Amino acid sequence: MSYFPDHLADRYRRFKLRHFIPHQEDYERLATSGQNPEVMIVSCRDSRVEPEAVFSAMPGELFVVRNVANLVPPYETDGKYHGVSAALEFAVLNLRVKHIVVLGHSSCGGIRACVDHDATRQTEAEFIANWMSMLDPARERILATSPGGSPAELRVALEREGVKVSLANLRTFPCVQTLEGRGRLAMHGAYFDIATGQLSVLNEATDTFVPL
Ligand SMILES: [Zn+2]
Repeated sequence: MSYFPDHLADRYRRFKLRHFIPHQEDYERLATSGQNPEVMIVSCRDSRVEPEAVFSAMPGELFVVRNVANLVPPYETDGKYHGVSAALEFAVLNLRVKHIVVLGHSSCGGIRACVDHDATRQTEAEFIANWMSMLDPARERILATSPGGSPAELRVALEREGVKVSLANLRTFPCVQTLEGRGRLAMHGAYFDIATGQLSVLNEATDTFVPL
């Protein structure tokens, strides 16, 4: 049997003492009344990007879906296992969230793999290349419109373009289309710069990311 890592046990005890106990009534209320978050976040799995920290959220406030490169696949009904789609459906139809935020970020490893196509060179990588191929058309669009850009510039452009692709894919879901059309669901794109802490929000009318 392997032992639970000491540092995780220590961190847990710290959480219990410093965070849980001071907010115990909030947790008890959440346990009995259930969750009622108004915001769904689609974020990257990157350990440097913590939506709850960026938005100063308490438990129960954010419904967070995380995956490599904060991607939402398009609406598909092929009978396969669609984790993002299931989470989206639950958030929109059951929790009735009012906002969905797709949160991209700087220095994204998934985006780097898409730009460099290096995931396919990793012999044990069975899933990343196929997952990131969702952004192949966006990568080709950027290469066509901005030829001669450096790999770093291409990565930043694709990190931001990926947010727009996920928003477009979200809008292929009938439930999202219906509720956004009725004004009961608002969609947002955002981009977090890890080094500076700057959060920028997508203005879809001008197609630009505006720093907050
Ligand atoms: Zn990432």
